Amino acid sequence: SFWEYSSAPESSDFVEINEKYNHFINGEFVEPEKGRYMKSINPASEEILTEFAEGTSEDVDKAVQAARKAYNKTWSKLSGRERGKYLYRIARMIQERSRELAITETMDGGKPIRESRDVDVPLAAAHFFYYAGWADKLEYAFPGRKPEPLGVCGQIIPWNFPLLMLAWKIAPALATGNTVVLKPAETTPITALKFAEICSDAGLPDGVVNIVTGAGQTGSAIVNHQGVDKIAFTGSTEVGKIIQKSLAGTYKKYTLELGGKGPNIVFEDAPIDQTVEGIINAIFFNQGHVCCAGSRLLIQEGISERLIQKLKDRMETLIVGDPLDKNTDIGAINSKAQFEKINEYLEIGVNEGAEIYQSKCDLPENGYFCRPTIFTGVGQSNRIVREEIFGPVLTIQTFRTPDEAIEKANNTPYGLASGIWTDKGSKIFKVGQKVRSGVMWSNTYNKFDPTSPFGGYKESGIGREGGLHGLYPYVKLN
Ligand code: NAD
Repeated sequence: SFWEYSSAPESSDFVEINEKYNHFINGEFVEPEKGRYMKSINPASEEILTEFAEGTSEDVDKAVQAARKAYNKTWSKLSGRERGKYLYRIARMIQERSRELAITETMDGGKPIRESRDVDVPLAAAHFFYYAGWADKLEYAFPGRKPEPLGVCGQIIPWNFPLLMLAWKIAPALATGNTVVLKPAETTPITALKFAEICSDAGLPDGVVNIVTGAGQTGSAIVNHQGVDKIAFTGSTEVGKIIQKSLAGTYKKYTLELGGKGPNIVFEDAPIDQTVEGIINAIFFNQGHVCCAGSRLLIQEGISERLIQKLKDRMETLIVGDPLDKNTDIGAINSKAQFEKINEYLEIGVNEGAEIYQSKCDLPENGYFCRPTIFTGVGQSNRIVREEIFGPVLTIQTFRTPDEAIEKANNTPYGLASGIWTDKGSKIFKVGQKVRSGVMWSNTYNKFDPTSPFGGYKESGIGREGGLHGLYPYVKLN
């Protein structure tokens, strides 16, 4: 497709990562008011990559004021066409720096370079291209209504797709005429700060995009700032609930993109080899650090034994290791905390009596690495079936009838994504209508496109991002 490119990055020599990064406020990199910094490490080597500013409420306040000024003085006065020009320029600059951004993403977050190169960075550019196209056509998105921007948007993102989540947030906000204060996650701040350089180089008016770094307290300062009109949050359901509580009684709009425990349903008539590849992709893509991961495999009884054997054989071929190596399938777990959480869940699974199978691959000596893992012999009440692990860990259950598959698929507090594998189109429609999830993929998994809306049912969140729907949360309609 048009945003793909063929270079094959593999050397970190190419990338310049500053020793220290400051906040990006009002078009400049500025030191944090309290002078405190945090460290970001490379999870594949455990070496420190950089230091970045720890944002306090004073820093957040400065950023919100800059965003408000930019909103009033420049951004809300530009025509949609002018805003679109900036977004196109940013999209092209992401493409121009794509190799550097992909390597940075891989070093800071641990994901395989093949994925940063072919998924994260090109999709981030694609989001800017897509929403650039909407900027001067908003009257067609809302026929008969007059869409107006909301003002200053506070945006908080997680560490699993740092640049891509930034693009999901910033592109529609800017296209609709809002200005933003965005906080990247504390384990993966670097691509957001490189994005700030892109905003500068693109000549984006000062204060339209502000990046404030830090951890949960910095995020909380954004959520609770009086001058913010809207909060867009992607992260855990736990933090989503805290945010929702703090916004109760305010008039701020908000969207929440939260956790998941995606059912991946395989019927007996599924094309078996294609399905095995799909299952692998559904759970092992990005080390399983994927909110929409197919982490609960539901197999119709008749093919379960054959399918599980094929899955185990395929798992043995997966390469776990150096994220910068183009041949790596599974990179490093994003942080020590996440690594410990996954290992805890492995223990919980075994203690609950489930049968564990892990591939026998070698693991690097340093860094946080985890073997691809499946659990069989599990039931609905097992914690590993109910709770989001956010790692390369799959639970497997069987079912007899489509109704039983639907019942098991829906038996979760989450409802973000699901998959179905079958030869019969009619089954896809029947089951698809009854599974409560924002996305259902059929005979494929983890396919993303800027034109498609994405978001959850139940505890997976409120609101949609992507596509035409992704414009709705950023406008008020007159
Ligand atoms: P997290 O909730 O711990 O953190 C997300 C972001 O919120 C980080 O930037 C963090 O610093 C910030 N934060 C933490 N506490 C805060 C608070 N009290 N107030 C405001 N901000 C706060 O989540 P995570 O561990 O970074 O990410 C993993 C989670 O994100 C998973 O549950 C995953 O399913 C979810 N996720 C969802 C989607 C989606 O689109 N639905 C996409 C990606 C990830």
